[in-house]
Amino acid sequence: MKIAFIGLGNMGSGMAANLVKAGHEVNAFDLSEAATAAARDNGCATFASAAEACEGVDAVVSMLPNGAIVKYVYTADVIGKAPAGVILLDCSTIDVATAREVIAEAEGAGYEMVDAPVSGGIAAADAGTLTFMVGGTESAFNRAKPVLEAMGKAVIHAGDAGNGQAVKICNNMLLAIHMIGTAEAFAMAQKLGLDPQTFFDISSVSSGQNWSMSNYCPVPGVGPQSPSDNDYQGGFASALMLKDLTLAMDAAETSGSNTPLGKHAQELYKAFAQENGELDFSAIIKTL
Ligand code: NAD
Repeated sequence: MKIAFIGLGNMGSGMAANLVKAGHEVNAFDLSEAATAAARDNGCATFASAAEACEGVDAVVSMLPNGAIVKYVYTADVIGKAPAGVILLDCSTIDVATAREVIAEAEGAGYEMVDAPVSGGIAAADAGTLTFMVGGTESAFNRAKPVLEAMGKAVIHAGDAGNGQAVKICNNMLLAIHMIGTAEAFAMAQKLGLDPQTFFDISSVSSGQNWSMSNYCPVPGVGPQSPSDNDYQGGFASALMLKDLTLAMDAAETSGSNTPLGKHAQELYKAFAQENGELDFSAIIKTL
């Protein structure tokens, strides 16, 4: 297939490279010259605008920073510029309402489109092991699936347009809450005189067990290798967790959902990310 790829940053760069490795022809575009040059090194053809990259393709994939940019790029450069009827896939993490609005506009112009945000960070994007949570019609999902499979290990249909984004923000709200809970428990266990390894050995096979504890322990030297073992470098930046929590709290407000722990998690990450936005989100333990 010939695929346009728009947004070649930390995530998009590895994803576009994996499409090339899978045998696709990739037309790449990014505003950053450095990102564009790296895409060329990875075997992509590069273009001066998103609209030019979309000429003659079978599919368009985007991996952009936020909803306003996604809306701008699709409205200005993709819808009406990409060949009629091709499949459009936005893999960015954006708000549910904008995802639904852009998909409705694309459908109105005769395209099929999915929202397909990812779970997994830069390492998973490079390795082609992302999980995609996909919103859109059955037909759009079936067309998007082979493109996504070249970049990930799991591609899951979450239902109608925007549902991929809905899963993503609910999941990450839960992740933030259990990371903070896990960090609190380890911090208090230590103050009560417990060795962190002993607490881990018991709690990880008891009812306190959860993913943040068992797979991503915020205490260095405990559990499988995680960013805490690397001074909280790499992993999932606290600034990105704050972005997802902010999207979650906007969605809570518009949907009338009562999310007191999500709100508190957002406040804690907002304070933490002011000085420590680059650190992995498990570093929140430093404040507890
Ligand atoms: P990034 O800032 O590294 O990359 C975004 C790229 O988009 C940049 O290269 C930028 O130049 C480009 N861009 C911005 N406006 C553009 C435009 N109008 N046209 C073309 N290109 C444009 O961000 P990232 O870390 O790659 O994240 C991308 C998306 O993936 C975000 O929505 C983020 O929330 C999501 N995400 C990131 C991670 C992660 O660990 N980094 C994990 C999961 C999801």
